[in-house]
Amino acid sequence: MEDDMYIDTHSHIYENEFLEDRAEVVERAREAGGGKIVLPDIDSESRGRMLDTAAAYPGMMFPLAGLHPTSVREDYREELAAVERELGARKYYGIGECGLDFYWDRTYWREQVKALEWQLGMAREAHLPVVIHSRDSLAEVFESLERYSGVQGILHCFPGGAEEARRAVGMGFLLGIGGVVTFKRSRMAETVREIGAEPLVLETDAPYLAPVPKRGKRNESSYIPIIAEKVAEIIGVEAKKIEEITTKNAMNLFNLHSENV
Ligand SMILES: [Zn+2]
Repeated sequence: MEDDMYIDTHSHIYENEFLEDRAEVVERAREAGGGKIVLPDIDSESRGRMLDTAAAYPGMMFPLAGLHPTSVREDYREELAAVERELGARKYYGIGECGLDFYWDRTYWREQVKALEWQLGMAREAHLPVVIHSRDSLAEVFESLERYSGVQGILHCFPGGAEEARRAVGMGFLLGIGGVVTFKRSRMAETVREIGAEPLVLETDAPYLAPVPKRGKRNESSYIPIIAEKVAEIIGVEAKKIEEITTKNAMNLFNLHSENV
């Protein structure tokens, strides 16, 4: 059964934090019911590691192509040209992660907006979904999304409240829910309570943002059921239901139905 598994829609398992024991991490994910893992791109420095990892797990790992906002600098045009070349060179399942991060550094905010909109344009042209990263920038992200209406995707690690969630859903976006939902006084938990399960997908953002009780440790896809349990508890349904809905959403968005498990 295709929906009888979890999908981690956001993992950087190709990063060096997993250099020593990636095979065991993958095995634990499988044992925990994890069938598929989506790999968001960061930049040209990390892309080779991502592609090597995806190639080692065909039918399980699915790479995206994109430029992360914290990697946007003076050379962002060259970086984006490389992303465009990649899209022509091999199969990618979406664009990202792209977006705006005004939390870490605002130096290149104009370039970040240009890079985001370039990638939204690519997504529109290639008929691919986008994975959006937004930190201290949700209003500005919405402005860009309005300019590229029709492009669909995930607002990863969704930072907004219920009203913003409804706006995102109205624009054809899914909400990426991860370990933050398990944190005390998390806004994400309130948003999930208000919005319900239908527009959600699950994600780790591994190696970051591990859920309670693993908080502070390296995150990995085998913790997805912890997140699903928490979402189920908040909404008041069985975890199995959360698994079904989020897996169906991810399969449809990334068009994974034709991919072998
Ligand atoms: Zn990420």
